Amino acid sequence: MLRLHEGILRCTLCRLSESRKNAVPGEGAFDASLMLVGEAPGMNEDLLGRPFVGSAGAFLNDLLSSIGVDRSSVFITNIVKCRPPMNRPPRVDEVKACHSYLERQIALIKPRILCLMGNNAIKGVLGKGYSIATMHGKQMQTVDRRFFLTYHPAAALYVNELKETMMEDFKALSEVLKSPN
Ligand code: URA
Repeated sequence: MLRLHEGILRCTLCRLSESRKNAVPGEGAFDASLMLVGEAPGMNEDLLGRPFVGSAGAFLNDLLSSIGVDRSSVFITNIVKCRPPMNRPPRVDEVKACHSYLERQIALIKPRILCLMGNNAIKGVLGKGYSIATMHGKQMQTVDRRFFLTYHPAAALYVNELKETMMEDFKALSEVLKSPN
């Protein structure tokens, strides 16, 4: 994993490498049963080289503590490892260029549950969009992977009612984590 992360830090596969300050491979437990996947680093993440350290990260920390999960026990990353300029959404070719990094992280960590946060993470990982309004708080099983879909924590900073919705989603996620299979 450390070698993979060193590769990400030096990556020049797409244009985002030209404007980043730091690539953000992700952080947490390399044997985590829960892996959380967001969209892309923002300004604070780019400066520090760590995922979810700004205001969306503060809310993510609240969500995790609300279900008694320690941030250091999960693995947190993004579909794209470098900050898009002006925080624009990552472009399709950037998501593609970065895809194998996420795949290799998943292969090494082998999480029980992959929690995809927000439309762009859902589309980036599952390959097509799902209506987050109907799919949030739910699991989705593919041949070899189990996903849990929710909103992006930043969305709840703009739309206040989503805070409660995400708290409920994380309650459901904690039940999934507690269940034996
Ligand atoms: N938003 C994301 O999607 N990822 C981060 O790391 C920070 C904010």
